[in-house]
Amino acid sequence: MNSSESTTRIYVALTSEQGESPGEFLKTLEGLPIGVKIGLELFVRRGPKLLEQIKEVGFSLFLDLKFHDIPFTVAGAVCSACQWEPDIMNIHASGGMAMMRAAAEAASGRTKVIAVTILTSLSDDDLSMLGIAGNPGDAVLRMASMVQDAGLDGVVCSPSEAKDVRSAAGEDFLIVTPGVRPAGTSHDDQRRVTTPYKAIFDGSSSLVVGRPITRAENPRKAAVNIFDEIDRALVDRASGQVTDT
Ligand code: C5P
Repeated sequence: MNSSESTTRIYVALTSEQGESPGEFLKTLEGLPIGVKIGLELFVRRGPKLLEQIKEVGFSLFLDLKFHDIPFTVAGAVCSACQWEPDIMNIHASGGMAMMRAAAEAASGRTKVIAVTILTSLSDDDLSMLGIAGNPGDAVLRMASMVQDAGLDGVVCSPSEAKDVRSAAGEDFLIVTPGVRPAGTSHDDQRRVTTPYKAIFDGSSSLVVGRPITRAENPRKAAVNIFDEIDRALVDRASGQVTDT
């Protein structure tokens, strides 16, 4: 495991399953170069106090609140969120160019702001009902280009879109992908999954991993195994040689 990297490669997605005191769970991961992703469920339930606790344990924070509102309101929300010093936070790309630019300006380098492209829960039919042209892959590429033009730091997308987004957006663009499962582990309710190796080989910068770590018998060991897979994928990506099948 290469822990000297500046990119946080794994954000562990916490939910209320980790109990009233996620601090207890996080202690099992102490010292590993992970970040913690807090989404709407826990934030709405526990509030900013929880964010303070995560920072206290020393983990970086991905504040996954997916803002989507008029530019003025989103800029204000991004400014307010900066007080918790998240490493990354996110907004919806579908909020449009002005909203994304307002978010980038409000963050002014204090945090990385990435944008959700197309929710992976949306089907081709949903997109057509919403008036969004093309299949999800086309729409994600179009939105990733807007996100880049707006001056944001990257996108959240499905690992199956990472390869195309990486080749279109270049190496410095963040691509954060959930929906990953190490080979042989439960898919839970995720329908289309990719291994950590493939997601990173295809161009993801960071993975959001929930249950494969939080429900593992030994969460620390599960995280270390995923880091090893990531390290192999980074070496192989640099050489262009696939060594994992
Ligand atoms: O437990 P699991 O690894 O499936 O958790 C993945 C995390 O990523 C969850 O917090 C889930 O809400 C989030 N997520 C996802 N698929 C998306 C967007 C977010 O699984 N398309």
